[in-house]
Amino acid sequence: MNCWKLSKYFMAKEYERFLNQNKPRNAALIRSYSELVSQAYNERTRIVTPAEVKRSMGAIYGEYRYNDEQDVIEFITRMLDTLHEGLISEARPNAEGTKMGRWNINKSIITDLFFFSLTSTLQCHECGESKISIEPAMCLSLPVPPRRRYRDDVVLFYMQLSRSPVRIHADVTLNVLGLKELLRTEYLALEKVVCLWYNGSRSMVELGDHAVLNDIHHRVFCYEYSEAHLSSYCWIQLKIRKLSMDRSLRFNILVQSLAGDEFSMMCVRDVLFHLLPKENLWMLDDLAQYFKLENCPTTPSDGGVLGLPVASIVCSNHEENRSLGSSYDPLDMIIAGKPPLVCIQDCLDRLLEMEELSVLLHCNRCSTKQRFSKTMNVENLPKYLIVHLKRFEYVNSLLAKISTLVEYPLDGFMLRGTEYRVIGICNHDSDRVISSGHYVSYVRKECWYLCNDQIIRKVNGVDKKHTYALFLERCE
Ligand SMILES: [Zn+2]
Repeated sequence: MNCWKLSKYFMAKEYERFLNQNKPRNAALIRSYSELVSQAYNERTRIVTPAEVKRSMGAIYGEYRYNDEQDVIEFITRMLDTLHEGLISEARPNAEGTKMGRWNINKSIITDLFFFSLTSTLQCHECGESKISIEPAMCLSLPVPPRRRYRDDVVLFYMQLSRSPVRIHADVTLNVLGLKELLRTEYLALEKVVCLWYNGSRSMVELGDHAVLNDIHHRVFCYEYSEAHLSSYCWIQLKIRKLSMDRSLRFNILVQSLAGDEFSMMCVRDVLFHLLPKENLWMLDDLAQYFKLENCPTTPSDGGVLGLPVASIVCSNHEENRSLGSSYDPLDMIIAGKPPLVCIQDCLDRLLEMEELSVLLHCNRCSTKQRFSKTMNVENLPKYLIVHLKRFEYVNSLLAKISTLVEYPLDGFMLRGTEYRVIGICNHDSDRVISSGHYVSYVRKECWYLCNDQIIRKVNGVDKKHTYALFLERCE
């Protein structure tokens, strides 16, 4: 009802010229829908009830006769289809070139406002011959990727010390090889990376490429290093001395601080800059005063990971009140960003991306069965676009709901170069259960309204977590 051009058409009773008297049940739906829209837009109306519309739909489709819960997308597409069928076409399909001609279907206000073309192109791998089919559609069904689990305790230390270490979000299903690829693509680690964890006695354990993050129950540390200069690196074990007790940090730092036989503290200083609390950065001004090298690593005698020596640096501070607190954990300084969001563009890309068909098809040019790839596209985008997030899927023959949050913009919603704005949202609020749940809708007027059964109220924002269908209006 918030698709204004459609509502205006019904309120002005423009349909009367086209009413298909051969389809009385469709005509009945058109009349009851027209009545409902007129009541809803009448300022004097206090209460509207869609009982007649439901009765008209129930007269055509058995599942709407009673009060069982039904799928909203199925309902809306059937309702629009039934309205369309009840309107005699204004013009017969004509030659190629016009939008409707290509579909070979009748034209109505419904096709004018809601229909678009879904083209699929099949291309033969062998000869490149392609077959294009164009289908009319009024609902863009987008696949939603399943919710991913991330861990945010994977720490990356960069080789360039000007770059702060980061805590990254990594999908738990990744293996170490995949993690290294993620570090290259998303976190721009350019050189080689070694990934490891620390056991109870603080020894380093290197992770093999095929270890899966989900199976590693310790914090994972990743260090970027230059393979060409490996001999100048060493591991630094940082200890904090409190009275006579040494407390070791739960990880080491990889630094390039060996030049010939000389050990330079400068690189250590640069790493510490990212790991010390702000109020303790003054300690770096007089490095030698507070940080003491305990065993000097000139030979790789107690070689750690990569065959590199391990040096100890002790931070001792006699002025207790100015020292690093006992609860100090340098990893608290490394802040994790937000986990990656799935946005509606990702869902659209999934729909439109090329797919290799698993079955062989007959190719006319090759005159034999061949492998084909399939590419989808959307064209002739309509005034009102209904977008459906496919949240229900079969898992072991049981229907399951995918509750991934899909982010989308309310304005400036771009689709194949066409700008849309969201004017309505339909949410399904149960996370897992699919046999029941509750639908609410958001409607955009001068502000957003939440329609929850008989209660309609102004709201400041919309709940995107449970979005199931979106109603978009093309910006002119
Ligand atoms: Zn072929």
